[in-house]
Amino acid sequence: MERIYFDHAATTPVDARVLQKMLPYFSDNFGNPNSQHWFGRRSVTAVDEARDLIASLIGAKPGEIYFTSGGTESDNWAIRGAAHAQAAKGKHLIVSAVEHPAMITTAKELEKEGFEVSFAPVDEYGRVDVQKLKALLRSDTTFVGVMTANNEVGTVQPIAEISALCKERGILFFTDAVQAAGALKIDVKDPAVDLLSFSAHKFYGPKGVGVLYIRSGLKMGKIITGGHQERTMRGGTTNVPAIVGMAEAFRLAQEERERNAAYVSSLRDRFISRVLREIPYVKLNGHPQERLPANANFSFRYIEGESLLFSLDLAGIAVSSGSACSSGSLEPSHALLAMGLPEGLAHGSVRFSFGKDNTPAQIDYAVDKLKEIVLKLRALSPLFPKELKNEVFEKEN
Ligand SMILES: *Cc1c(COP(=O)(O)O)cnc(C)c1O
Repeated sequence: MERIYFDHAATTPVDARVLQKMLPYFSDNFGNPNSQHWFGRRSVTAVDEARDLIASLIGAKPGEIYFTSGGTESDNWAIRGAAHAQAAKGKHLIVSAVEHPAMITTAKELEKEGFEVSFAPVDEYGRVDVQKLKALLRSDTTFVGVMTANNEVGTVQPIAEISALCKERGILFFTDAVQAAGALKIDVKDPAVDLLSFSAHKFYGPKGVGVLYIRSGLKMGKIITGGHQERTMRGGTTNVPAIVGMAEAFRLAQEERERNAAYVSSLRDRFISRVLREIPYVKLNGHPQERLPANANFSFRYIEGESLLFSLDLAGIAVSSGSACSSGSLEPSHALLAMGLPEGLAHGSVRFSFGKDNTPAQIDYAVDKLKEIVLKLRALSPLFPKELKNEVFEKEN
């Protein structure tokens, strides 16, 4: 059976060119960059080059790039480090209601430490309502965190407007660019951000490595203490192969961004238009236009997303229900609920996220399978009202 991977928002395979770049740093060039000898110096050079490259691609200075173990650590560091460093100034933090669990959970931990957190509401498409966020700003607000684009529904956030609001008031602005980094142009000056995170495994780089951009001059606390790595801000022996791989993956993602985005969004549009035309009682979640090229999130009425995921997996098609991070729990996604989706629809939601190696034939195969499975699950579902016609619309062409 052919296996089809439509879960690129959860993780991507390492690009072959990236792997080639990484390999020598597992064996011949294994030195610890903290060591004072030739082996160490070779690693220092590789890490410096990676830092310079990433900095230049996002309009930053090399000294503003901090290597971490990935998006979760970068998000944790951003909110914790900023909250703690500014606690004397104020203890009010704002994050959007649709942030990744790496932010939401950490914000809730900070509440236990005596910080006050407001969750900025979103509209039905998952876009932060800028006026409502503005109304939440207070004189003791020190931090605003809004992701560049959402991981579940792909909605792109109005971060330029939010950045401007924060700048006027001298409030730190952080954006989680983990989903956006492989698909959109990332520039820390436009719109201006104080802190920004991304993670290599979402753009065909290795897992377990990411970046936190920290604007120079910003007072930041640390969350990992240890040796002198990362200008004493983040201890731990440097993950040289992963950093080399991340820089190469990011270079390729940015260089090939327009071509990949055009291709992947053409697959997504083919998928979305066929699903909406051929399967009844389906809702497309997220913003109709302001969305990432790779994402199509649907709610299939009268069906559990989990059942659909398992049936698709049996048919060789890999997708995710809710967010990958919360699957396994039966709680509906916090992000979908924040968009005002009724619980039933939130439970019936499935995310398809496409990649540069997918093909139009895979899209067509998947829609055909999906039609069959939805029909079958509804026929078995006690949720499906008897008076409705359980039917599949035929393809028009
Ligand atoms: C995947 C993801 C993260 C977490 O990144 P990891 O590197 O997997 O820890 C954080 N935020 C968003 C938006 C993500 O999609």
